[in-house]
Amino acid sequence: MDVIIIGAGAAGLMAAKQLSDAGLKVCVLEARERVGGRICPFMKSEGGAEFIHGKLAVTLNLLKEAGIEKQELTGEMKQFIKGKWSRETEFFQHAGTVIEKLKEIKEDISLATFLNTYFAEEQQQEIRSALTSYVEGYYSGEISRASAKSFLKELLSEDEQQYRPVDGYGNMIEWLANYSKKAGTIFKLSTIVKEIRWRKGEAEVVDEANQVYLADKVIITVPLGVWNANEKAKGAIIYKPALTLKTQAASEMGFGSAMKILLKFEESFYKEGFLKKHGEADFSKLHMALTDQPIPTWWTQHPNDSSVLTGWLSGPGAVEIKNEDDEAVLLKSLHSLSWIFDIDLGQLKKNLEWWKVFNWTTDPFTLGSYSYSTLQTASARRLLMEPVEDTLFFAGEAVYEGPEMGTVEAALTSGRDVAATIVIKKGSRDNEVG
Ligand SMILES: Cc1cc2nc3c(=O)[nH]c(=O)nc-3n(C[C@H](O)[C@H](O)[C@H](O)COP(=O)(O)OP(=O)(O)OC[C@H]3O[C@@H](n4cnc5c(N)ncnc54)[C@H](O)[C@@H]3O)c2cc1C
Repeated sequence: MDVIIIGAGAAGLMAAKQLSDAGLKVCVLEARERVGGRICPFMKSEGGAEFIHGKLAVTLNLLKEAGIEKQELTGEMKQFIKGKWSRETEFFQHAGTVIEKLKEIKEDISLATFLNTYFAEEQQQEIRSALTSYVEGYYSGEISRASAKSFLKELLSEDEQQYRPVDGYGNMIEWLANYSKKAGTIFKLSTIVKEIRWRKGEAEVVDEANQVYLADKVIITVPLGVWNANEKAKGAIIYKPALTLKTQAASEMGFGSAMKILLKFEESFYKEGFLKKHGEADFSKLHMALTDQPIPTWWTQHPNDSSVLTGWLSGPGAVEIKNEDDEAVLLKSLHSLSWIFDIDLGQLKKNLEWWKVFNWTTDPFTLGSYSYSTLQTASARRLLMEPVEDTLFFAGEAVYEGPEMGTVEAALTSGRDVAATIVIKKGSRDNEVG
């Protein structure tokens, strides 16, 4: 085999497409019984990635190539804080003030230090909690580790317009996998890699059943959570010889936590019910609700006609309840909705058709959500990206230098780029031999 790819998420599948296009013999080893990784379609909804955060070239070009349309996100963002609804138009309350202050920083500091330095007054509590909730909610990270400078850069490059692939990311993943299969790539699902024994120019990849796979090169795309897991963890990979510096680098990068809760109701109760009770409030175009409830963020499928509500808890909050069983999380979700929409809990339960909790923090092949920038990320990432002896290569959303860290775009780009590095090197070696 020319190349073994570990992981059939967006990065692994994109690398497989590029390598098989170049005529290389490729085998993808994937721990789960499905492809997609953190792209995880469920009942016409998404348990993992869902949105395209702007006009992102690699994702949009791939969708075009696959003949998949994108849909613009429309609708209203509302806030429900201290029992009151309001319309939210900024990233978060007081975002303008925070951005101006962030621009004044010379040396990078954590966002926690930033808040303690510039917004420490008692009357600035609202600013502190607004920024904290935003970082925990959107980046799924911790303010004590998140880099203030990177946060500012990301905020300023944020594209207001967001999209979804029509019918979800699932079709893109299926198309990618089929593309490589047709070009000869072998997929081995339910194959948990445990060990990689390597030396320059060859590697033995060993799975849980002690099956050994041989290749000239290996691309490793496992998430940072798996890199950081202890050796005995289900998805952990042991490298022989060890990759001590890489493991250290992975631990210095931020990797958040998230829980996504899908609730399908018989009808979109919040539209009708709320209108009746609250007269002027119009929830017919509700896209997202940011609240101060235990499950704080909720979104609809607007503009699609769907009665699925998605609950979102991330950052330290998701860590706190990561070991609660799904029923307990469901109950928290229903209580939150009951309070937000002022609707009877019993009525909500009666109206519920199905539900599903996606607890990514305990998922053994993710152990978190997606990466965010710490003070060490830039240097650690450079170290993690660097191929080892032209034999081990690294890809995945975290192993990407650009403004879209932590996204499908980042994963696809890293997969494409690592494959290009391998193809270019092979080309120049073939020329030398020729
Ligand atoms: C809840 C949630 C919501 C998100 N929402 C969005 C969004 O709206 N928009 C967006 O752009 N991004 C979103 N993201 C981020 C996005 O999903 C990821 O950045 C992207 O899918 C990562 O792709 P990847 O290939 O790098 O990693 P993964 O998709 O995690 O792929 C890695 C693969 O490696 C496999 N693996 C792990 N260990 C082993 C092992 N030992 N042996 C074999 N295989 C192994 C895993 O099973 C997995 O399939 C979200 C992520 C989460 C968790």
